[in-house]
Amino acid sequence: MKYISLSSSSNGNCYLFEDGDTRFLIDAGLTVKRIKLLLAEIGVELSSIKGVVLTHSHRDHTKGVPTLVYRHNMPLYCTLSTLQDLEKNTGKDVDRALWREVKSHEEFEIDGFSLLPMPVSHDTRDCHAYRVKIGDKVLTLATDLGKATDELMEAVKISDHLIIESNYSETLLQLSSYTAFLRGRIDSDCGHLSNVQTGEIVDYACKEGRVKHIHLAHISANSNNPETALGHSKKFVTSGVKIDALPRKEMSEMWEM
Ligand SMILES: [Zn+2]
Ligand SMILES: [Zn+2]
Repeated sequence: MKYISLSSSSNGNCYLFEDGDTRFLIDAGLTVKRIKLLLAEIGVELSSIKGVVLTHSHRDHTKGVPTLVYRHNMPLYCTLSTLQDLEKNTGKDVDRALWREVKSHEEFEIDGFSLLPMPVSHDTRDCHAYRVKIGDKVLTLATDLGKATDELMEAVKISDHLIIESNYSETLLQLSSYTAFLRGRIDSDCGHLSNVQTGEIVDYACKEGRVKHIHLAHISANSNNPETALGHSKKFVTSGVKIDALPRKEMSEMWEM
């Protein structure tokens, strides 16, 4: 399995997974024009992508989705609530022939890949982290969650690679220009993971699991920075485990596992 982050922040989240000719996206929070441009850089045609899987309906994860679905007829994998929120935002119904319903805890397949949607708390009607498996390789992707769940930790424990958000520093959040309301929202169980919370997950993955590579994702520009996020999580990384911070607006390198 290969994967690449096209963007990972409140400016847009989009990840491409690939195995042979099978490709799919998790989230598409960039314009399709931008997605096409980035894919061209790695020699991938948009038409070769089998579908887009959504974590939740927030715009930084769905900006390009209407164009992908309405114009490019790309299959859409999401829950009913996320579909309804998307349709409400665009004022247009998604062709049901293109919709593949995602249900919490129910594993589904995309051409040999198996994906487990794990519900997490966030300030949307629903939000999911995904455990992505192919053969004996496992990757867990979790962005946009206020706290970890037992199910997520079980997935973390058996993951070789992790894409996990390290959204904010508690200190920098208090110093940020956000309103008290927004700070409270981010800091809540329905908000995002702080560097401290992410550090606990990194610690668990390294001590109890088999992780080899950890990518810190969705790092806030207002209340965090890659150095602070990495500086904290690195304290828990054991020898032989790689860790990096995904670029906020640029494409990462392509990783293979
Ligand atoms: Zn987000
Ligand atoms: Zn969100």
